[in-house]
Amino acid sequence: MEQPAVRFKRILLKLSGEALMGSQQHGVDPAVLDRLSSEIAEVHELGVELALVVGGGNIFRGARARGMDRVTADHMGMLATLINSLALQDALEKKGLVTRVLSGLEIRQVAEPLIRRRALRHLERGRVVIFAAGTGNPYFSTDTAAALRAMEVKAEVLLKATKVDGIYTADPVEQPQAEFLERVRYLEALERGLRVMDPTAISLCMENKLPIIVFNITTPGNVRRILLGEPVGSIVSE
Ligand code: UDP
Repeated sequence: MEQPAVRFKRILLKLSGEALMGSQQHGVDPAVLDRLSSEIAEVHELGVELALVVGGGNIFRGARARGMDRVTADHMGMLATLINSLALQDALEKKGLVTRVLSGLEIRQVAEPLIRRRALRHLERGRVVIFAAGTGNPYFSTDTAAALRAMEVKAEVLLKATKVDGIYTADPVEQPQAEFLERVRYLEALERGLRVMDPTAISLCMENKLPIIVFNITTPGNVRRILLGEPVGSIVSE
């Protein structure tokens, strides 16, 4: 059967740690992992090369750890992203996908070290690459890691998964009158402090002209729709 035309050949999908916990307060929900993996497998079937970055907020966030040394807390946060990456890898493998976890912190018994050329080779061979441990540095976020890795592997777009339909003028959960913004410029996102990603991540994307699509991951089929060119979510670009 002929493949439908896709809008992007190589993408980076950023999932927050919270996206993995479903209705739980903490940790990972196997049912959610199963659903997310099906979505990812569907997209992989379209022939799209997939890189993933997953956060760690469902387990640990450095900046929220009161009374701890920040660098130590950030190391814990980065390890949390590795836990999530392994959970996602396991779920993806159950769907028959070949995956590799590449870690920004060296933990060789568990994951491959981050070597850019190796990541590129995996992608070219159709393996799903999961970038774990954020940037490998404290004081950064996994949003920034997603922007950085997207650029390193020359992804054409950064898909930022959220629980809402895209970018709004305010948090739509708290303020139902908030306005949906279909298209936003990088500078506007920064100046208005719109909830897209943190400013470091947005600045990196802006400097390198990497478009960001913010979309609702809780609506099944959305990633596939984006790749087939349907107007899903909000786009941040020049
Ligand atoms: N983190 C870090 N450096 C990075 C990425 C993440 O130190 O490059 C730490 C930081 O403590 C952060 C935690 O890992 O709070 C989890 O990542 P994040 O908060 O971005 O996860 P998300 O909000 O996407 O679940």
